[in-house]
Amino acid sequence: MARYTGPSCRLCRREGRKLFLKGDRCVSDKCAVVKREGVPGQHAISRSKVKEYGRQLREKQTARRYYGVQEKQFKKYYVKAEKKPGITGENLLALLETRLDNVVYRMGMASSHKEARQLVLHAHFCLNGKKVNIPSMLVKPGDVITLKEGSRDSSKIKELIERMQTATIPKWLEVDRTNVSAKVLSMPAREDIDFDFNEQLIVELYSK
Ligand code: SF4
Repeated sequence: MARYTGPSCRLCRREGRKLFLKGDRCVSDKCAVVKREGVPGQHAISRSKVKEYGRQLREKQTARRYYGVQEKQFKKYYVKAEKKPGITGENLLALLETRLDNVVYRMGMASSHKEARQLVLHAHFCLNGKKVNIPSMLVKPGDVITLKEGSRDSSKIKELIERMQTATIPKWLEVDRTNVSAKVLSMPAREDIDFDFNEQLIVELYSK
């Protein structure tokens, strides 16, 4: 399935909640969800009519869109999460959190997942000293993500480093703001993920 290239706000309106896809705009009163724009589409279904399957589907779409993951890849994460010991829904969220683009986002170097993805695609980061450009790469405890030598010269990156200085960092990452690097201390625990997912609904959807 092709990557969605339409308006980001439309996705939030479809899910009826903020997915934080447009950086600073998302925390302003210009946000379409704050302005309470309705579900897109002429024949939008009233939310009250959404039944069990609909709720499960919407929750899966919310997670997929929040992390910017394609359907096929999302399913692969689910299969992987199911095979791991522990609670499948929590395993799934932990896997999504450990995507390289999400780590760049969590370390405060991007205002949105989309921007983080672009930074990784343009090979601005190294993983354990090696240049990488695959946003979906999964990191593990002990891994170190650093800004590539030479990338600091770009004015855009300078702006992002500035932004990073005041970012709130999750407990599972240790960030060195001077050297623009992050070390993965542990796998993210459920309480470390502040987005209000109901991951059990996703598990129910895939368990059918
Ligand atoms: Fe979603 Fe951000 Fe647009 Fe608000 S501004 S609707 S959170 S993408």
